[in-house]
Amino acid sequence: MPAIFLPFRNHLEARHVPGLLLSRDPVRRWLDFGLDLLFPPRCAGCGRVDSIWCAICAQEVERLPFPAVRSLSTSASLQAVAVTGLHEGRLQQGLWALKYENIRQIAVPLGQRLAARLADTSWTIDTLVPVPLHIDRQQQRGYNQAALLASAVSEVTGIPMLSQALERQIDTRSQVGLNAEERQANVQDAFRARPDLIAHQTILLIDDVYTTGATLEACAQAVLEAGASAVYGLTVTAARG
Ligand SMILES: [Zn+2]
Repeated sequence: MPAIFLPFRNHLEARHVPGLLLSRDPVRRWLDFGLDLLFPPRCAGCGRVDSIWCAICAQEVERLPFPAVRSLSTSASLQAVAVTGLHEGRLQQGLWALKYENIRQIAVPLGQRLAARLADTSWTIDTLVPVPLHIDRQQQRGYNQAALLASAVSEVTGIPMLSQALERQIDTRSQVGLNAEERQANVQDAFRARPDLIAHQTILLIDDVYTTGATLEACAQAVLEAGASAVYGLTVTAARG
């Protein structure tokens, strides 16, 4: 069960991210301090009053072993895909908080895990590209969780991220409840990549969850059509199956 938050709680928590919303105004900082006393942050993993991602959950996630890289003989476009774990437990809770509870700071520890997974591969990546949301959905949510994850990976690895390199042109319906073939049809031709940004580069696509791989495959196709030399995929979790 994900922790339940007061509706305005997460907005307040944003100030705990260094440089994000931290106010330099001393009055505002005292106000923030007071709000912390009134509404102490809760961990998105275990729910205990501590921080948005407590040390125990962070350590638990850090110690989870990485599953093997999948070489995709079935994929025409992706060289390989790596994930950092199954879509369960703390990783699932962390992604839930990132996507649906507006706790954007969780992208930092999850991004560090992505970077550690990437460091374990032999891939040489030129550019990170987050899987885009359709502009309508992004405006609704206020952010793209995959871009936050990619940005955290970029921070750790120094590999540049280009969030404008790939666009979702069609607002595809949710993939939930669709089988593999339906998912493929649903996202086919939904993406368009910019040749001026990614031609002749090795691209790493970053997303939150790997389900059937239909979305990553459609993105990889678009990126290759735009002239990229090779494409890999990296996600926080993979659904069982
Ligand atoms: Zn916790």
